[in-house]
Amino acid sequence: MPTRPKLALVGTGGTIAATTQSNTGLTDYDITQGVQTLLQAVPGITGLADLECHQIFNVDSRAMSSLMLLEMSHKLNELLARPDISGAVITHGTDTLEESAFFLHLALKTDKPVVMVAAMRPASALSADGPLNLYQAVQVACSSQAQGQGVMVLLNDQIHSARFLSKQHTTQTNAFGSPDAGPLGLLAGGQPRFMMRSLLPHTTSSQFDVRTLYSLPKVQVFYDHPDTLAELYRHAAQSGVQGIVVAATGNGSLTPGALEGVSRAHRLGVVCVRASRIHAGPVTDSAYDEDHHTIASHYLPAQKARILLMLCLATQLDHSQIEAVFRDY
Ligand code: ASP
Repeated sequence: MPTRPKLALVGTGGTIAATTQSNTGLTDYDITQGVQTLLQAVPGITGLADLECHQIFNVDSRAMSSLMLLEMSHKLNELLARPDISGAVITHGTDTLEESAFFLHLALKTDKPVVMVAAMRPASALSADGPLNLYQAVQVACSSQAQGQGVMVLLNDQIHSARFLSKQHTTQTNAFGSPDAGPLGLLAGGQPRFMMRSLLPHTTSSQFDVRTLYSLPKVQVFYDHPDTLAELYRHAAQSGVQGIVVAATGNGSLTPGALEGVSRAHRLGVVCVRASRIHAGPVTDSAYDEDHHTIASHYLPAQKARILLMLCLATQLDHSQIEAVFRDY
């Protein structure tokens, strides 16, 4: 009999682990279930793999702090270094899934499959999406084609790269997409099928190694709009913020208040990145960057640019090195 692969199943919380009083209740849920309990709703999952459960948090993902990201990375780097573990599946809330997934994509030093999984409906709901998502995530983590793909995210029969995935709907089960790339693969007929591989650096080819890091610099996202108050940038700088990502208009165009704000922040030593409020497409380099000391986020949305900027600042990169990282990652 072939031996089943051993996977680490790491629980962090989210709607996938939540319940409500009524089976038609889809909101206002509480996180009540540990990761071990989730397995009860997924008959047959233990036939796919031997699952070693680790409950590291049990929170709504809006509470996922940068310290928790580091703790999660340390735990996963330790588990994935074990020769008996062939991959990991991580349950997580959908609200900040893209940030956590991107962080792990850059920080984990492994070629083994790492699949994050979530649900839009609580575990108590009629047609809850969590159990099948979890089953499929384990299938993907067992697939040889998942090797070296970095961190993947499984929801709604789709396999996404952490690099491109973003949440695009507040309630529907098809809430996730990868706007500038499309999914890496699909599940159909009960099998995962990969069609793509990301060419951008991740995991073992990422220059970021967080294994000796225990804190991350403060980086904030400022949503730009007409009437932006430049004062807020100075206030952020004086509150210990080391980096600001502006979710600017259009192709990273800063409003007059934000332009004034980034110049003031720069004078106080803060690195400012221009991202966009628009959910797809790049923010291209601009002549403004030289004049205002800003850096274009290229294909990263503001919430992911924040993760990359935290890593750049934590590893003490200078302005031109940060520019290069934003161009390459
Ligand atoms: N609020 C939940 C969370 O992010 C939403 C979800 O998981 O769908 O934890």
